[in-house]
Amino acid sequence: MIIGGGVAGLSAAYYAIKKAQERSLPIRVSLLEKEARWGGKIVTERIAFDGGHFIIEGGPDAFLATKPWGVALCKELGLGERLQGVNPRLKNTYVLHRNRLAPLPDGLALMIPTNAQAILKSPLISWIGKARMGFDFLLPPAPANGDESLGSFISRRLGREAYENLIEPLMSGIYAGDGDALSLAATFPYLRDLELKYGSLARGALIMRKQSNGKSSPSARSAFLTPTTGLAEIIEALVSRLQADHVDLRLGTSATGLSQSGRGYLVHLESGEVLPADGVILAAPAYASGHLMAPLDAELAAVLREIPYASTATISLAYRASDLPRQLDGFGYVIPRRAGRRALACTWTSTKFPHRAPDAYALLRVFIGRAGQEEAIPWNEEALVRLAREELQQTLEITADPLISRVFVWENSMPQYNLGHPTRLARLSELLQQHPGLALAGNGYRGIGIPDCIHSGELAAETLMALWSPRTE
Ligand SMILES: Cc1cc2nc3c(=O)[nH]c(=O)nc-3n(C[C@H](O)[C@H](O)[C@H](O)COP(=O)(O)OP(=O)(O)OC[C@H]3O[C@@H](n4cnc5c(N)ncnc54)[C@H](O)[C@@H]3O)c2cc1C
Repeated sequence: MIIGGGVAGLSAAYYAIKKAQERSLPIRVSLLEKEARWGGKIVTERIAFDGGHFIIEGGPDAFLATKPWGVALCKELGLGERLQGVNPRLKNTYVLHRNRLAPLPDGLALMIPTNAQAILKSPLISWIGKARMGFDFLLPPAPANGDESLGSFISRRLGREAYENLIEPLMSGIYAGDGDALSLAATFPYLRDLELKYGSLARGALIMRKQSNGKSSPSARSAFLTPTTGLAEIIEALVSRLQADHVDLRLGTSATGLSQSGRGYLVHLESGEVLPADGVILAAPAYASGHLMAPLDAELAAVLREIPYASTATISLAYRASDLPRQLDGFGYVIPRRAGRRALACTWTSTKFPHRAPDAYALLRVFIGRAGQEEAIPWNEEALVRLAREELQQTLEITADPLISRVFVWENSMPQYNLGHPTRLARLSELLQQHPGLALAGNGYRGIGIPDCIHSGELAAETLMALWSPRTE
């Protein structure tokens, strides 16, 4: 039984069936989703317009190609040839700095600046800040001192200014998080490895990049990929595969709790129905899984609920290209937390992925809301569109009325891997030992990107397979 029909839960069902078929195990899989649609945070709207289509992503808009599990699943589902990269003609991503857009300096490797010339020319950092960045080559690695925040680590190596103006909007933005609270070990563990191994982030990042360039296959088209008509293609393909495999797929079915029944479990539903299961994969957000676990294991439930989630929203706005005063010559821009804006970033969707808007039209997407600032945001559609339009007016001087606007509010959607997250994960693994046949999947634990969520589903399916291994017979 799998609870939660986002990409993690759907992947768990897919891999459970696949692994059972490979081992000739006669298992029956049920997948419960409380909403009326599959996909969780993945939702794509395709809007016919003036002879073409706007493809509007409500949540994620592409996945990282370098983590193998996304591409691998797409290939298995027959979507390999449908994966498209970002516009190869684009180079720039901008950072909002003193109310203007400044390009990210060339030579970022693993998000670390490595090109001294480019840094010297960049308006993003003052001369004192640039000099401070050079300390990265001189400072010895800090001795191990437990979990450190991303903000503290980068400030220590590159200086606070480089952190606030350059690294924070790139790295914390991925989590809509607060870099001074995010755990380095849980978010970017390789940075500490670079410090320890090479004594310098820049030196280490350069070496790593050279090594991975040597290994990357010539077919690697782009760091970010998406199926042609949007990420929902992955969800649609998974659902039709699961239907073909006779998985018991139940939408509009909310689980309310778990209890023990012999060596198996009972899943209690809001409808009052109770479903028996040999094994259960909890693929809901960590706080929701905590709620489900409460009757079975209060401590496990408490640890799950300790993982905080931030709320965020995306507002997609479509315009006639001729209504935009500025050429959209990049992927978009990110906004440092210290700028004090309510927006976090703006993606220039129709230049990043030209097929997502009809010719002569432009599609932009503004992200609003980040950890710790949610109370300042009015979470209703009208106010969010107003905030997004204010952002576009202030930064890009767009005053025209949008032709289309689509708002997606994602309440408690972005898990925050804050300080202490690695300890919580270790405790969760320990506590789960006492519940054979129970596994966790989803974005709350070891990666929030789509490939990580797919991988978590696959690993959870493998855990359940142990129920049928000879050892437990
Ligand atoms: C705005 C935004 C932009 C993002 N951008 C990117 C990106 O560009 N690239 C990328 O790789 N990742 C991105 N992410 C992250 C990624 O989209 C998510 O981490 C991932 O989709 C989460 O998948 P999941 O299956 O773990 O969880 P979810 O998608 O949250 O699915 C969990 C499901 O469980 C269901 N559920 C909850 N409680 C119950 C219950 N009691 N009973 C039954 N069902 C229940 C929920 O309704 C939900 O459908 C983004 C996320 C957001 C919000």
